[in-house]
Parts: sequence; C-alpha cells; structure tokens
Amino acid sequence: MHGGRDVANDASTVFDVVILGGGSGGYAAALRGAQLGLSVALIEKGELGGTCLHRGCIPTKALLHAAEVADETKEAAEFGVLATFQGIDINGVHKYKDDVVAGLYKGLQGLVASRKVTFIQGEGKLSSQTSVDVNGQRVEGRHIVLATGSVPRSIPGLDIDGNRIISSDHALKLDYIPKSAIILGGGVIGCEFASVWKSFGVDVTIVEGLPHLVPLEDENSSKLLERAFRKRGIKFELKSRFSGVEYTENGVRVSTENGKSIEADVLLVAIGRGPVSAGLGYEEQGVAMDRGYVLVDEYLRTNVPTISAVGDLVPTLQLAHVGFAEGILVAERIAGLKVVPIDYDGIPRVTYSNPEVASVGLTEAKAVEQYGKEKVVTLKYNLAGNGKSKILKTAGEIKLVQVKDGAVVGVHMVGARMGEQVGEAQLIYNWEALPAEVAQLIHAHPSQSEALGEAHLALAGKPLHAHD
Ligand SMILES: Cc1cc2nc3c(=O)[nH]c(=O)nc-3n(C[C@H](O)[C@H](O)[C@H](O)COP(=O)(O)OP(=O)(O)OC[C@H]3O[C@@H](n4cnc5c(N)ncnc54)[C@H](O)[C@@H]3O)c2cc1C
Repeated sequence: MHGGRDVANDASTVFDVVILGGGSGGYAAALRGAQLGLSVALIEKGELGGTCLHRGCIPTKALLHAAEVADETKEAAEFGVLATFQGIDINGVHKYKDDVVAGLYKGLQGLVASRKVTFIQGEGKLSSQTSVDVNGQRVEGRHIVLATGSVPRSIPGLDIDGNRIISSDHALKLDYIPKSAIILGGGVIGCEFASVWKSFGVDVTIVEGLPHLVPLEDENSSKLLERAFRKRGIKFELKSRFSGVEYTENGVRVSTENGKSIEADVLLVAIGRGPVSAGLGYEEQGVAMDRGYVLVDEYLRTNVPTISAVGDLVPTLQLAHVGFAEGILVAERIAGLKVVPIDYDGIPRVTYSNPEVASVGLTEAKAVEQYGKEKVVTLKYNLAGNGKSKILKTAGEIKLVQVKDGAVVGVHMVGARMGEQVGEAQLIYNWEALPAEVAQLIHAHPSQSEALGEAHLALAGKPLHAHD
C-alpha cells in the first residue's frame, strides 16, 4: 500500500469512496474524487491501469505503429526513398511496446500517489453494501464503486490454451511471428490484430459471423475497410459462424457452419469481452445484474444506493474513454456536483487498423430508424480530393449523416490517420452543428482535417474540391 493512511492499522477509517478495480474506470473515479477532496481507497489485484494500459489500447497501438513503420519501409521506394525492409525483430517490437507501457505505468502510479489516493494492492470482494474485504481486512466506504472490468470471452467448445488458441492477452506477448493466423471475430480487436500481423508478414484470415467487418460501424465504413483489407491481402470470411476447431500437426483447423475449413498456425479468439463479476459478492449484496454485467441507471447508480459501477463491467460501450467519463461522472456525483448523463452516441469510436475507421454519432441505418428515411440526408466525400491524403497515398471517404435541414448527426471516416480527425467530428456532433456552420470554419491546407471541412462545404451545397 502507498499514499494516504495505512488502513491495516486503522480499523476506524471510513473512506468517502472505496473503488474496486484500478483500470480506466476505477482510477478515473479515484483521481477525480481525490481532486474534489474526497478520501479515496483504490483496490487493485493486478496492475494499476488495468486492461487499457497493460493489455489493451496502449500495447496494441504500439504494435500498430511498429506495423506502420514496417509498411512505410517496404513502400519507401514509392516516395523515392531508398530503404531495405529486412524483417521484424519481434523482441525489439516488444521492447518498444513494453517501454511505452512502463513509462505510462510509472507516470500513473506517481499521479495516484500525488493525489493522496490510498492504493491497496490485493484481490477485493464486496462484503457489505459499504465495504470491501481485501488482504484479510475490511475497507469501509460511504460509497462503493465497482470497476472490475472485463476479460476475453470464449464460447463453449473453444478452449483458449494460450498456445495455439489464444486471446488478445496472449497475442500481445507472442514471442514469434506465426506464418499464418485465423482471427475469430471481425470487430475492432480482430481487425487491429489482422492489420498488425499482415504488416508483419502473417497470412491472415478473419472469420466473422455477421455480414461485415466492424459490424457496429456504418455499412459504408465496413465496405471501405473490407476493400482496403482485400487490397492488402487480408482474407476474411463473412457470414461464417464458427462451428469447431481441432489441432493439426502444427497448428489448428477451424470449421464454420457454412462448410468452410481453414488451417493456420494459430487461432486468435476475438469475439468480445465479458464482465469480471463472478464470485465478487455483488449478487450476495443485492446488486442487480444481467448476464454478469452490473446494471446501472444513467448516473451509473446501481439499485443499491451506496453502490455505483463503471467501465466494462456495465453494459455500455467497452472503451477506455467511456470508463474515464463514467468514473469522473460518479466521482463528481458523489462529491455533490451537478452531473449530466453521458450521450453514448456522442462518444468517438476508432479502429486503429490500416486504414483507420473512425466515427461519432449515428450510422445511416440508425438515423433512418430514429428520424425516418425521408428525413435523412447523407454525403460522401472521397479522400482522393484531399491533398494531404494524396500525399500520404491513402484512400478512403468521409460520410456525413444529416437530419434534413438540420444538424449533422453522424460522421464516419475511413483512411490513414482518420482517428486523429474524430476530435473535430465529435465537436460537430455534440454541438449539433449545421453543415453551413461547419462550412464557415476555415481548415488548414493541406491537412486531412480539410477533408472534413470540404465534406461540410459539399453538404452545405457549395463543394470546392468535389464534383457537384
Ligand atoms: C486488445 C484491446 C485493445 C483495446 N483498445 C482500445 C482502444 O484503442 N481504445 C479504447 O478506448 N479502448 C480499447 N480497449 C478497451 C479498454 O481497454 C477497456 O474498455 C478499458 O480498459 C475498461 O476499463 P475498466 O476500468 O472498466 O476495466 P479494466 O481496464 O479491465 O480494469 C479492471 C481492473 O480491475 C481489476 N480487478 C478485477 N477484479 C478485481 C478484484 N476482485 N479485486 C481487485 N481488483 C480487481 C483488474 O485487475 C483490472 O486492473 C481495448 C481492449 C483490448 C482488450
């Protein structure tokens, strides 16, 4: 334990907030709570920072950047640069990735200590509606925040052995580059690993049960990603549901319900993540749950007045920045500030593959459902008309979804570095901007943000670098 008081020797301590789980959701609640003057205990059984820092966002994005460097080296001649791609030094890649994680981890530990959060290392269990038991002691709080996160999920008959059948946790640590890989699940995590592995020279096949990759995105984005992946030689089987897997002499053979049989060195199971809640005392203390998720209202309150829950443990979007936002909201509510419920449609979503897929707001299908077909207007702006994208040799589109004569309610982007554009797209959506208002903003030339500006010029009826 470090920071604050030693609860082991101070049984009378009652914290304002006791937080179970030190991932994105839990530590955000701790930092904000402490900032607002609350006394906070943060209990973590593994490493502070949780999935995002150690097994999720950060290490995957480091791998994706290494993949980008590999691709740029291979394609250097297209830019008149002489370079020879000699291969991937996987130990070097891991060292780079681990150094990034270690640096951020150290910074986060320092931050938590400096805010005087009492950090308790150990596996906790909810022991009453106002306490958590950890390391044989009871930690009391006026409020409890459950933030135990999620872990990779599998399905019956598919046992993750950590060797040939792996989860993202194992994939991040693989000390060799397989010749071939099957990825079960074409969602964000599956597509990001497909992208990395292809750049590292792996023969990749994605198996997805739904009709499209990144199926939660606007269909146009999915189709553009599929086109780009096809061009890169990333194979995928859509509408193909997993039916079984068997070991072969050197790898695995996956069969699908529609009669496909695919062999590879490894199978990465990326079919989603399930909540960590079993055996933690939640149900015993009367917390309402649904299939392992803790149920909350729009203020992240459970049915038990003293208990809140945040992050992947609750059935909202499983993203680190959602965890941060939920943690902050809970801390501010407990501290007595006025809080506003989160608009989950207004949260930016990025798949950091090559090319990137970024979006905020409603897909066209959702907008039609919400407003009616005749009320929805869409516009597609091709990145071919954007100078900076041309310089980067990237292809893609920005698609806008607008309510007729009203605000832009959806922005969907595919192309290199489009994740960096989602900040502006988020302002447009969340401020309910009209196309004409965005068209009035002058974007730097040549930049990729200019493509967003041009798309809005076109939607406002005055396209510049686009055909009428
Ligand atoms: C491969 C991958 C890539 C991802 N990429 C992105 C991305 O690019 N952007 C993005 O926004 N999101 C990304 N995510 C999702 C993101 O990591 C999660 O949404 C986020 O980490 C959720 O935060 P959390 O605090 O709810 O849970 P977690 O981060 O899982 O933290 C929960 C913590 O609780 C601890 N814990 C559990 N039980 C106990 C117990 N009984 N006692 C004490 N401690 C306990 C765990 O050890 C863990 O540290 C990615 C996830 C994965 C797997």
